[in-house]
Amino acid sequence: MGVRELPAGEITKTVKRLCIEANTILGEDVIQAFKDSYEKEESPLGRDILRQLMENARIAKEEGIALCQDTGLAVVFVGVGQDVHVVGDDLNTAINEGVRQGYKEGYFRPSSLDPLNRKNFGDNTPAIIHTEIVPGDKLKLIVAPKGFGSENMSRVVLFPPAVGVEGVKEYIIQRVEESGPNPCPPLVVGVGIGGTLEKAALIAKKSLLRPVGDRHANSDISKLELELLEDINKLGIGPQGLGGTITALDVHIETYPTHIGSLPVAVNIQCHCGRHKEAVL
Ligand code: SF4
Repeated sequence: MGVRELPAGEITKTVKRLCIEANTILGEDVIQAFKDSYEKEESPLGRDILRQLMENARIAKEEGIALCQDTGLAVVFVGVGQDVHVVGDDLNTAINEGVRQGYKEGYFRPSSLDPLNRKNFGDNTPAIIHTEIVPGDKLKLIVAPKGFGSENMSRVVLFPPAVGVEGVKEYIIQRVEESGPNPCPPLVVGVGIGGTLEKAALIAKKSLLRPVGDRHANSDISKLELELLEDINKLGIGPQGLGGTITALDVHIETYPTHIGSLPVAVNIQCHCGRHKEAVL
């Protein structure tokens, strides 16, 4: 099979569109989870918040305005087919230009700044780009703006293996409990177990891309996801932390082989604003 040429301008145009759509149109899976949670939530205040979240999503979509004032850092996952050749500019420049244009056109808040002198770059670039080489001649783009109310509550820890599955469960529940109202519940709790420090964090973040309600293909892991969801919803934190039975909409776990001497665990918390949009070029 020959190499397929893909103009960088196509990538920029698509990233721009995905930035706008991700920040204004909440996925149907999240909206359905709000509806289901509204039926299940026992607290009247919690139910009212879930109703407001559905109303917020409707207004944002109809009026093309941001779902939340924190339009996040632009996290972009790219699956680059090994038979694709990007022409006209380099891939990272094309993506960053799309983010720049999308955030400007959408009137979204630029949050990206220098970590030390705190000077804002003004256009929400550079994006956080995760590139993976995959088979084929297509390029897959996923734009997942990440707010930092929830990102700040996320953690990676490298446990000794003796901690075991029960210890990992305890840690995840404790992380959600300690986060309280800060990550804007109801949450999707993304968990990465295994790998190295950075691999655990990456698979935890990637798990947030799965649709809410989607279960892991491995039955042991899907069972663990449901057990954790039940335990987390017993914490009583509730929608926006004002009490209730729906603290999390879902728990997603991804695993990766790890070293005999370690048990890495990453918890990446996603707020109720579970935004991501994708396209294949
Ligand atoms: S954590 Fe999410 S819902 Fe809360 S302010 Fe940030 S982006 Fe918005």
